[in-house]
Amino acid sequence: MVEAVKGVRDILPDEIRAWHFVEERARDTFERYGFREIRTPIFESTELFARGIGEGTDIVAKEMYTFPDRKGRSLTLRPENTAPVARAYIEHQMHRRSEVERLYYLGPMFRYERPQKGRMRQFYQIGVEVLGSDHPAIDAETLEMLVAFLGRLGIAPVQLVLNSVGDPECRPAYKEILRRYLLPRRESLCEDCRRRLDTNPLRCFDCKVPADRDVMAQAPAILDHLCDACRGHFERVREHLDAFGIAYTIDRRLVRGLDYYRRTAFEVTAPGLGAQNALLGGGRYDGLIEELGGPAVPGFGFAVGEDRLVMSLPATAAIPDDAPEVFVVGLGEAGVSAALQAARRLRGSGHRTLVEPLPGKSLKAQLRRANDLRARFVLILGEEEIQRGVMTLKRMSDGSQATVRLDELDRRLGEMARA
Ligand code: AMP
Repeated sequence: MVEAVKGVRDILPDEIRAWHFVEERARDTFERYGFREIRTPIFESTELFARGIGEGTDIVAKEMYTFPDRKGRSLTLRPENTAPVARAYIEHQMHRRSEVERLYYLGPMFRYERPQKGRMRQFYQIGVEVLGSDHPAIDAETLEMLVAFLGRLGIAPVQLVLNSVGDPECRPAYKEILRRYLLPRRESLCEDCRRRLDTNPLRCFDCKVPADRDVMAQAPAILDHLCDACRGHFERVREHLDAFGIAYTIDRRLVRGLDYYRRTAFEVTAPGLGAQNALLGGGRYDGLIEELGGPAVPGFGFAVGEDRLVMSLPATAAIPDDAPEVFVVGLGEAGVSAALQAARRLRGSGHRTLVEPLPGKSLKAQLRRANDLRARFVLILGEEEIQRGVMTLKRMSDGSQATVRLDELDRRLGEMARA
């Protein structure tokens, strides 16, 4: 038997309701804030990610699913969706349509990582991007929306962690300071960090090796080396968050894995996720659109891991029921024919209705089946009923039943549902 490959999985019907719930709340929340959905392709030119995410990042260096197509072009399954959205924004000249564009997306992403709980090779993200303004109010309002979204899912408590990673004005000087701190300690660093020291020393903050973490705990923090504009931006964002009453902590070591972040960077962690406790991450990326060949348009966004969101839903989450309202039992072949007609009528007036053509099965066995499915009503069409041109409607919660005609089925069902 052929099985699913390592690191991917099926989301089965019993589980999918939670996913739909999360997606419906995401759409509804984001649309209240003026966001509109964008769908980009699952694969793009490899170059987009190399330029957009950064050659030196873990994602580009070792986690991409890259393959040549039949004409030898290098393609990559998207490992994230900010670069594709930026590409689409440029390609369709969306900056001409509106000054501030608010976009959201949902869909699968692909990274060749070591699979573990909450970490898959195909996983799902729900994300938003705001393009066209570098005002700190954008950062704060988008974070407020994020908190509202998590609140509507009942996910609490979450911890919002914030930092500023500077911009091209102040980051180069800070990188030098960091490098000067790390150079004398080079020999004690892991191999990855020694490489990062040459390419981008900020990455050393993401190292998981305990000895390196100790070194980084004492390292100078970028927050103490921001230029006036970056410091001012960070202060405004914090003021807006305070005015919203949104709690957060500042993590001076938060740098995030992607090259394009500027100024605001943040993460949200949730308990109960184990080692992979990051629910989402995001930040400001004012240079990305230009880097990809577009106009100088600033951006801000976040991406939530949907797999982890679903894992974090409380048991009390208001996930809609998928049980049938009416289970129609047709006894004998004539009963099955009549059942199909009745079911069609019920569906036409909006009732979730199920017919299982099992004419050989006893009424008792079919009632048991309806019970297992948690059907609210059973509609029975037996020989006697068909002869009399009626049917029996049975309410499963208390076993009460009524004899009804096809033309009054809808009304009687409504009355019994309300009673
Ligand atoms: P990133 O794009 O790396 O900032 O990731 C944003 C969010 O996506 C993370 O906080 C996770 O919730 C989720 N995520 C990233 N990689 C994976 C993965 N391999 N499996 C499951 N979720 C992931």
